[in-house]
Amino acid sequence: ITWTLDDGWHDARVVPYGPISLDPAASVLHYAQEIFEGLKAYRHADGSIWTFRPEANALRLQRSARRLALPELAAEDFVESIRQLVAIDAGWVPSAPETSLYIRPFMYASESFLGVRAAQKVDYRVIASPAGAYFHGGIKPVSIWLSTDYNRAGRGGMGAAKTGGNYAASLLPQEEAYQHGCAQVVFLDDVEGRYLEELGGMNLFLVRHDGTLITPETSGTILEGITRDSILQLARDRGLGVEERRVSIDEWRDGITSGEITEVFACGTAAVITPIVSLKAADFEIGDPAAPAGELTMALRQELTDIQYGRRPDHHGWMTRLV
Ligand code: PMP
Repeated sequence: ITWTLDDGWHDARVVPYGPISLDPAASVLHYAQEIFEGLKAYRHADGSIWTFRPEANALRLQRSARRLALPELAAEDFVESIRQLVAIDAGWVPSAPETSLYIRPFMYASESFLGVRAAQKVDYRVIASPAGAYFHGGIKPVSIWLSTDYNRAGRGGMGAAKTGGNYAASLLPQEEAYQHGCAQVVFLDDVEGRYLEELGGMNLFLVRHDGTLITPETSGTILEGITRDSILQLARDRGLGVEERRVSIDEWRDGITSGEITEVFACGTAAVITPIVSLKAADFEIGDPAAPAGELTMALRQELTDIQYGRRPDHHGWMTRLV
């Protein structure tokens, strides 16, 4: 679909996958005026195909659009764009256990204009790709690198928007994480440098010994993950306490040492829930990289994937049938 200042959204169509032609002066290439979303289509046992909370992705795309001075796409049009793409061929949604179709809607400034102002021509597209099981041979707990030299986003910035610039900011610290043998990087706040924000592409949870889930509040610098929100709801359903607030790095580090914090995990659409068993920083290291995943971590993961794959009742009306 294309948007222009004069005509609004128009020209919706499904075209074969292939290269996009873009003018060298297209503003997205220079000023990164672009946003995206990520969701999945799941095949249920009866062959029907479903997606998880697409309205939440639609609303987040609208919030991202407002922050990046891009036009908003109506939620119905967002869901319809996904439905039409997935419906092309139901066979491309994989049927092996825990596999899915990863769907990537994105919007970018395609106007040829080198001045710094909101573009007057924008394109919205959706692509998709079959995704294998995220973890081969069982869930693998990971070690996390604490970035103290770099921030991902700051106050008043774009941290709550799903826009490429935030990911560009996390690439160098992510490389640093790999160099230290860690799978992902965790960021701290940009003001005091002591409050946990999120990982490069996932939200973070600590589990207290009494089963309470603790997660950094969404105050504008982190992405409001849909998996994060769903886990908070499943925890409330179980009668567990949930705390959305500022969480300091000391609470994680000292909590593991004292036994106050018993499990840590990250969550997002791609990996659902990833157990975190160790944390490394320039000046300390805690946890055991070979430790098994936590019990509550795995139970929540099972519950969420059961809902997504239609193996358990969907009490919250989270699933939308596509095909
Ligand atoms: N934080 C960041 C930076 C992410 O890229 C993602 C993945 N979209 C998440 C959190 C988790 O969000 P969701 O649960 O909606 O996938």
